[in-house]
Amino acid sequence: MAHIVAIANQKGGVGKTTTAVNLAASLAIAERRTLLLDADPQGNATSGVGIVKHELQSSLYDSIVEGRPASEVLVPVPGLPHLELLPATQDLVGAELQLVDRPHREAALRDVLNEIKARYDYVIVDCPPSLGLLTLNVLASADTVLIPIQCEYYGLEGISQLLNTVRLVQQNFNPGLAISGVVLTMYDARLNLCRQVAEDAKEYFGAKMFVTPIPRNVRLAEAPSFGKPILLYDVQSVGAKSYLAVAQELMRRLEKLPVSETLEPQARVTTSDIAAADLATTGLATAERMNPEMVTAEGMNPEMVTAEAANPEVTNPEMRNPEARSSEAKGSEGTSPEATSSEATSSDATSSEPTSTEATNPEVTT
Ligand code: ATP
Ligand code: MG
Repeated sequence: MAHIVAIANQKGGVGKTTTAVNLAASLAIAERRTLLLDADPQGNATSGVGIVKHELQSSLYDSIVEGRPASEVLVPVPGLPHLELLPATQDLVGAELQLVDRPHREAALRDVLNEIKARYDYVIVDCPPSLGLLTLNVLASADTVLIPIQCEYYGLEGISQLLNTVRLVQQNFNPGLAISGVVLTMYDARLNLCRQVAEDAKEYFGAKMFVTPIPRNVRLAEAPSFGKPILLYDVQSVGAKSYLAVAQELMRRLEKLPVSETLEPQARVTTSDIAAADLATTGLATAERMNPEMVTAEGMNPEMVTAEAANPEVTNPEMRNPEARSSEAKGSEGTSPEATSSEATSSDATSSEPTSTEATNPEVTT
């Protein structure tokens, strides 16, 4: 039975779609039967894997609102035999309005998924940037939530609201919902601000943090304009290796695989991918030594969503003193203004960075 993983964060532009597309592609490369479900009316995950929206006969809207069988809406993803897509178009905006008066309006997506989930090992769901009815439907049907956090000043803003929503969904609709992990996105180890966000996130989420952060990488930003996941666009890029490593971590957490078992991606993978897989294995082995809960927790720790009670100091990142943080950031990054303002400088330099947070910031894994 499929692991249904919601990629959720109501903040816009934090890397949800990039993570959903590339995680799904990485799982497919590892020969996991994977469905990428686009639950965002923007349809970015749909176009991100090369599907032309206006050529589609039907989309998630037709299944969720009109009751069309999902098996008739699915489309194969070019170049990735183990990956299928349940596409979204702008029509999906109407779904929120049309579902609102229905009984069990939060269960519409669950009904859609029940029809097809047995076909897959993983269903990766790209959520819209809101906590509205569509996201509620995703959370009500998911097994776990994976939260991407952008390494920027407001990166942790709104996280307690997201966790509250997860808790409400647990209490009312989906008691089994858990957090499968938290991934840092657009990470640049050279920026103090990024390292600070990583430390705060580690303090807040503990073992839920994925060992591998996703660096800021210009190839990741380019790939969607070619309608390709990064693995098909530039398999050698640091972005591709990082998403492979995150997929490895996710598989270890959800499939409870022993560390000794190698999860080498199969067909279509070059030696650099294997290197990325090794990196993930090494990182995980270290993390486990530090924290055995890491690979067994798989997001099942019920305290996760009540972390606020357990650790009031990190309860509400929004409540922290922003002035202290911003002046610190200014001071530290002021030494290299180009590094912060130039995407090219930043991303190119990042490719020589280790992809494990641990290598640059021991506290993230310890
Ligand atoms: P929305 O909330 O609008 O759905 P999102 O959370 O899905 O946004 P993305 O669309 O994945 O975010 O990413 C926002 C922008 O940042 C995109 O232009 C994307 O290409 C870029 N981006 C995402 N991750 C990275 C990265 N690691 N390095 C460089 N650019 C990135
Ligand atoms: Mg998106």
